[in-house]
Amino acid sequence: MGSEKEMDNFGYVGDGDARDVLAWALKRFGRRIAVACSFQHAVLIDMAVKIDPDVRVFSIDTGRLPEETYECARDFEEYFGIKIEWYFPRKEDVEKLMSDKGPLSFRESLENRRECCGIRKVEPLNRALADLAAWVTGVRRAQNPTRSESKLIEIDDEHGGIAKINPLVDWSDEDVRAYVKEHRLPYNSLFEKGYTSIGCAPCTRPVEEGEDARAGRWWWEHPDHKECGLHIRNWQI
Ligand code: SF4
Repeated sequence: MGSEKEMDNFGYVGDGDARDVLAWALKRFGRRIAVACSFQHAVLIDMAVKIDPDVRVFSIDTGRLPEETYECARDFEEYFGIKIEWYFPRKEDVEKLMSDKGPLSFRESLENRRECCGIRKVEPLNRALADLAAWVTGVRRAQNPTRSESKLIEIDDEHGGIAKINPLVDWSDEDVRAYVKEHRLPYNSLFEKGYTSIGCAPCTRPVEEGEDARAGRWWWEHPDHKECGLHIRNWQI
């Protein structure tokens, strides 16, 4: 039986380097681990395919993604030789939301915004993770106040206690940019248009000089609320 630290970390005892933990996780969980991709950057996919060219990568199409993100998805598939596993929201839920509240209800209240994210992101994510023992995310502490306590490896209680691996948890924005540049990776062209964080088209805007990197996400909301529910422990907060 391992130490308490090892148990918390699903047995990982490495040095915490992104590649090290990723290599450990891909070996440890085999076909029951997948990398989540939201097209912010290709750092994790690049590291993962170099460890396992058949690594599973999944993404969620909310139905409201920008055109540039689809182009980025195509570029990632071609460059890395991968096939992204796509998850969509349930058709009947989207039809009801749009019919009951209209196409822009998420701008009217925090409750409405969380309802839309719940239907278009959280529910498909739950299905994507249902058969997995672990997932890999690009969560970084530097991204947002709501992510400041994230750990390298977490027990994901929201998804049945599976492992949530955050290899870049202590990376800065500059670390990510430097890796993408050094390895000449494809990237989302929205970054050339002033975007610093990318999500659904109607809920993301470019940021101004000196603004926080995630200021362009749900810009009408208080910073403490800027999560879509994919990486928040208590969705009701
Ligand atoms: Fe809906 Fe906006 Fe959330 Fe996308 S980011 S799911 S459009 S509220």
